[in-house]
Amino acid sequence: MSSTNKAPEKAKKSSLKDRGNLFEIAMQQVSKAADVIKLDPKVRNILAQPKNELIINFPVQMDDGSWKMFKGYRVQHNNMLGPYKGGMRYHHEANLDEMKALAAWMTYKSALHDIPFGGGKGGVKVASGELSMREKERLTRRFTHALGNNIGPEWDIPAPDVGTDGQVMVWMMDTYMNVAGYNDKNAVRRVVTGKTIISGGSHGRSEATGLGLVYCIEEWARDKKFNLDGCTFTVQGFGNVGSHLANLLTKRGAVMVGVGDHGGYIANPEGINPHKLLQYMAGKGTVAKYQGAAEITREQFFGLECDLFVPAALELEIGVDEANLLKCKLICEGANGPTYPEAEEILLKRGVDIIPDVLANSGGVVVSYYEWLQNKRSERWELEEVRGRLAKRMATTYQAVRQCALHRKVDMRTAVYCIALERLQQAYAERGIFP
Ligand code: GLU
Repeated sequence: MSSTNKAPEKAKKSSLKDRGNLFEIAMQQVSKAADVIKLDPKVRNILAQPKNELIINFPVQMDDGSWKMFKGYRVQHNNMLGPYKGGMRYHHEANLDEMKALAAWMTYKSALHDIPFGGGKGGVKVASGELSMREKERLTRRFTHALGNNIGPEWDIPAPDVGTDGQVMVWMMDTYMNVAGYNDKNAVRRVVTGKTIISGGSHGRSEATGLGLVYCIEEWARDKKFNLDGCTFTVQGFGNVGSHLANLLTKRGAVMVGVGDHGGYIANPEGINPHKLLQYMAGKGTVAKYQGAAEITREQFFGLECDLFVPAALELEIGVDEANLLKCKLICEGANGPTYPEAEEILLKRGVDIIPDVLANSGGVVVSYYEWLQNKRSERWELEEVRGRLAKRMATTYQAVRQCALHRKVDMRTAVYCIALERLQQAYAERGIFP
C-alpha cells in the first residue's frame, strides 16, 4: 500500500483550552434553535446556565505514599424532566466550561428522546492512564465520598465517559452503597449506570453508543438509498465508542480505511481489521504504528477519500481547515461537540450531511436508562431485548429529527434542539417556577 515518509505530526492539534470555550459554542447552537421556535425568553434564561456547579478539591494517597491533590467536578445543568444524568470524565484537561457544555448536551439528549432524565456531567482533572489501578480506585472512592448526596439514584446518576469504565462505575456504586443506610444498599445500585454486568450493569451498555451511531447511519443510508455494504469509513478515536462502532460497521460490510487517536493516524485503502487493531491497542495504548496500515499525518487523515467519517475522540477537532479537507458524504458525531460552528457551515454548504452528537451518540444514555430501569425493577433484560429497544428508539427519534428539519427548513443539529427545547418549554409552562 502507499505510504508516506513524512513523520506524523503530533496527533493532537492543540490543548483543549486553546480550542475555545465549549460552553459558549454549545449555547450558540441552542440559541439558533431557540430563535427558530421562538423559545420563551424566561426558559431561555434558565437553560443558559447550569443549575449547580460543584468543584471539589480532594487528596488521594498515591502508591509511593505521597498525598496528591485532585480537582473534581459535577455540573448539574437541568432536572426539569428527571434526575440529572450524565458521565464522569477522567482527563488531564478537564475544566469547568467543558463540563458545563457536556452537562447541557445531556439535558438535550434526554429531552430529545423523551427519556425522564435531566442533564449533568462531571469528572476529575487527571491523566487516568498514569494512575495505577489501586490509585484509580482510591481516587474514585474518595471523589464519590466527597460528592456525598450530590449524587443519588433519584437525584443525579453518573455513567462512564472518556477515561472511565464499568470498573470505575462499580467503585462509585460500592462507595455510595456503603454510605447509604444498610437496608437501602440494594435499592441504590442505580446511583450509577454503565456498571459491569455482574455488579448490576445491563447487557448491551458498553456497545450502546457505537450501536446507536450505527442505527443512525442505517437510517441515513435508508433515506439516501445508500448501500453500506462495501462503503468506506474513517474513525477518529478508538476508545469505547470508536472501537465498537468500527466493529459493528465492519460487520455490516463497511471497510475502515483510516483511524487515529492521541498517538497518531494510520490508513489502509484495503481496510483495517478492527478486531486485530483492538488487540494491538490493548498492548500499546494507541493505534499508532500498527503494522496493518501506513502511518499518515493528521492532515492526511482528514483528507482521506471515504464515505463516512465518525469523530469519536474529544471535542472541537473539526475546524475550518478540517472541514475543507474532508471528502466524506456523512459525518456521524460520536464525540460530544467535535465540530466548530464555522466548520459546520462550510460542510453543510459543501453538501456533507451531519448527524449531530446529541442524536448520534445518545445510544449510551438510552441504554443507561434501560439499566436504571432494570435495577429499579430488579430485572435482567437479554441482550436482544436491549438492542431491539435501542434500535426502535434511535430510528423513531432519527425520523422525528429529520421530519422537523424538513418541516422547519433547518439543519439536523438545529432540529434536534428544536424538539428538545419544545419539550422543556412545555414542562416549564405547565409547572411554572417555585414559589
Ligand atoms: N457519557 C455518555 C454521554 O456523553 C453517557 C452518559 C450516560 O449514560 O448517562 O452521553
